[in-house]
Amino acid sequence: MDGHAKWECGTCGQQHEGLTMVFGPLAPDPWMHATQAERDAGELNGDMCVLEIEGEWHYFLRGHIEIPILDALGEVFSWSVWASVSEDSIQRVAEHWEDPARASLPPVFGWVCNELPYEQSTVSTPSLMHSRDPGVVPFIQLDPSVDHPLAREQGMGITLHRVAEINRLVGAEAP
Ligand SMILES: [Zn+2]
Repeated sequence: MDGHAKWECGTCGQQHEGLTMVFGPLAPDPWMHATQAERDAGELNGDMCVLEIEGEWHYFLRGHIEIPILDALGEVFSWSVWASVSEDSIQRVAEHWEDPARASLPPVFGWVCNELPYEQSTVSTPSLMHSRDPGVVPFIQLDPSVDHPLAREQGMGITLHRVAEINRLVGAEAP
């Protein structure tokens, strides 16, 4: 909010400075719950994760659920989350990871695999993951027909006041 020192939140009258605009876990929840042996057999980096759970391989991609901020024009708040995708999908995305034209790949279907601080569970929310230019995290579009507060927030946008509330919620969960 540089240059807007007198800006005050329309909801609470505070200024909400220094808000963090991206939050998210470093791995899909199943990785957090996996045994050391399962992790050793799998793989996790900043963008992709492969994990065998009870004899079945699971594939995860990280993306950003971007939510427009209504009272900060052009700014977005992002939940950085992992979604489980099919083997075909992750192979196609991986093959084109360095492709300058990867933004033109068709989106892949994914189930959100992280619990976020919402009253309703965010795990297994259906989404489409859209590849973007190399170096840019994929964009996650939640299925707008799903009756979920997070999907509604993505569809309608949120205020800076809500971003401040999310900052507090996430801060409260930190160890
Ligand atoms: Zn406020």
